[in-house]
Amino acid sequence: MTEQQLCKHGESCSELECVYSCSHWRKPNDPRNPASVINDFVSALIASGQKCRENVSTELDVPYSDQTNSDSQQFIDFYGLDEAPVDAPVFVFIHGGYWQEGSRKLATTMVEPSVARGAVVAAVGYDLATNVDIGELVKQVASAIKYLDRRFEARGTRGMLVLGHSAGAHLIAAALALIGDELHQLPTLRVVLLLSGIYDIRPLVDTYIGRPIKLTMDSATSASPLLFAEKMSSGVGPVASVISIVGEYESSVFFEQAEEMCRALHNQSGMADRVATWQLDDEDHFSEIENMDDPQQPLMRAIFAWMEI
Ligand SMILES: [Zn+2]
Repeated sequence: MTEQQLCKHGESCSELECVYSCSHWRKPNDPRNPASVINDFVSALIASGQKCRENVSTELDVPYSDQTNSDSQQFIDFYGLDEAPVDAPVFVFIHGGYWQEGSRKLATTMVEPSVARGAVVAAVGYDLATNVDIGELVKQVASAIKYLDRRFEARGTRGMLVLGHSAGAHLIAAALALIGDELHQLPTLRVVLLLSGIYDIRPLVDTYIGRPIKLTMDSATSASPLLFAEKMSSGVGPVASVISIVGEYESSVFFEQAEEMCRALHNQSGMADRVATWQLDDEDHFSEIENMDDPQQPLMRAIFAWMEI
């Protein structure tokens, strides 16, 4: 029984669960407990969403599939379309939440600085795995990426940068593997940023993270992009770069997973000079997102450079 176990942070979980518990690993001298970290994070994201929807042009709740279920989250929120030139780069953001929490409405900290530099931001929603199989989420994110590629190729974009955070990083990697397996091409894709994700999700089976989404060894195996690097490389295509990023204060498994994903991609034909890892100094799993509202944040500065804006 895990209920009696306490991790080194004094929380009720096993050591395995601890290393995958993002809120346990924070900046030094941060006195908050994990619950406060999450609450503060959500509060900051809600405020960010309200502010940016007042300050920039929006096109909200755009469906990217033909689903008709009113409970679905298969929509994209666009920011800055009116302000941006037709060839503007597109910054696609896929939120995290261990496939059971989060929303595109809370994926907006990067919006104002990005729109100010002339980019369009697209915040992608997907259903939560408490309701549908995690493999369905992968298909949804793949559909969203293909929709965005088609729409912005027609608009004349200079290129698309896709960033996924946490579970969003996993979903992008898995979606690209699915797209690669379909032999589908993404002509606008230039940069893939995998921010603090895990790419072999099998360790989460029978943890407090895996149980609410009914993760089994079978479903975890088929949704682990680390096991399908060749297909993922095909989905990335012949041009785009993949950068795997981890905050300095995150637990060791996030670094190990990032390095293993990069190593697996690096070994694919033609990928060696288009794959890199990057430790984001002085950030943890949550601050790295909260601080994207600052155009001087090193992550945002790098994103502007990759988008050439
Ligand atoms: Zn812990």
